[in-house]
Amino acid sequence: AAVLEVRELTIDVPRAGDSPLRLVDGVDLILEAGTVTALVGESGSGKTVTARSIIGLDPELQVGGSIRVGGQQVVGLAPRLLQSLRGARVGMVFQDSLRALDPLMSIGAQVAEPLRLRGVGRSESRKRAVVLLESLGLRPKDGLLDQYPHQLSGGMRQRVCIAMALIAEPDVLIADEPTTALDVRVQRTVLTLLRDIAVSRGLAVLLITHDLGVVAEVADRVVVMYGGRPVEAGSAIEVFRNPAHPYTRGLLAALPRLDRPDLQLRPIPGAAVLPTDRPLGCAFVDRCAVALDHCADVLPDSRRVGDTHTAACHLIEEHAR
Ligand code: SF4
Repeated sequence: AAVLEVRELTIDVPRAGDSPLRLVDGVDLILEAGTVTALVGESGSGKTVTARSIIGLDPELQVGGSIRVGGQQVVGLAPRLLQSLRGARVGMVFQDSLRALDPLMSIGAQVAEPLRLRGVGRSESRKRAVVLLESLGLRPKDGLLDQYPHQLSGGMRQRVCIAMALIAEPDVLIADEPTTALDVRVQRTVLTLLRDIAVSRGLAVLLITHDLGVVAEVADRVVVMYGGRPVEAGSAIEVFRNPAHPYTRGLLAALPRLDRPDLQLRPIPGAAVLPTDRPLGCAFVDRCAVALDHCADVLPDSRRVGDTHTAACHLIEEHAR
């Protein structure tokens, strides 16, 4: 069964003297235990605000549709209840581990804190922190527990953040660009770790990233967002083998290929569309090299490309005819 189920999510930001501005429209996500789902897009695509809304981090935004965590509806939940859900059932890891950690608190105290807040005793909390940190490839017995964040490398700090998010044993882990600040080798280690944790703990991981290369490494499923809407979704294998949306194809063409260093990278021309400038039709129309006449005016709905694979583009219908 789905641990996290998001249906027809809409997110609006209220504007003084104007109608609310729609940031996100029509996102569906189904996360199952033991799997990694990647939410991919450029900045401004709506991926981060989608993730944050799942645990109500931006109470000023208006969230519509349905978000169920372990079957429980989260949309409309009182802030206090949402807060207890956060941490208990949904853990979160952010990009910037240096800012996420308290510089004045030792690593041991920091990792154990979520348990302490739930009334678990000091020595039991510390014991569980040691076991968890070890399972994340850190060495808590070498004095790590008494060190402070600035004494650790970026990769170690990110693992400490993962430990803090996991210590209360949530069902869902949301990781927002968790490796962007790390060098390539450490990135790979942390991503592999996330994947292993998902499988071994039966955790559902939602990985937010702008980098499709990251997705290829770890994700089971991928949802590509553009202009606040999902444009393509499916199993990672299907989407990589047979990308259907021109935007996904563009992202893939812009990825460096280890096996073909001779290939020229082709970044997608133009800049991501702003929520205020979105056309009536397909948000990608200004950057799309294969746009049709009606693309700017008619919104493409989601069409089936394969068994687990959908995309929202007028061309898909054109091809099928
Ligand atoms: Fe391009 Fe039209 Fe497809 Fe949008 S709907 S991606 S503009 S072809």
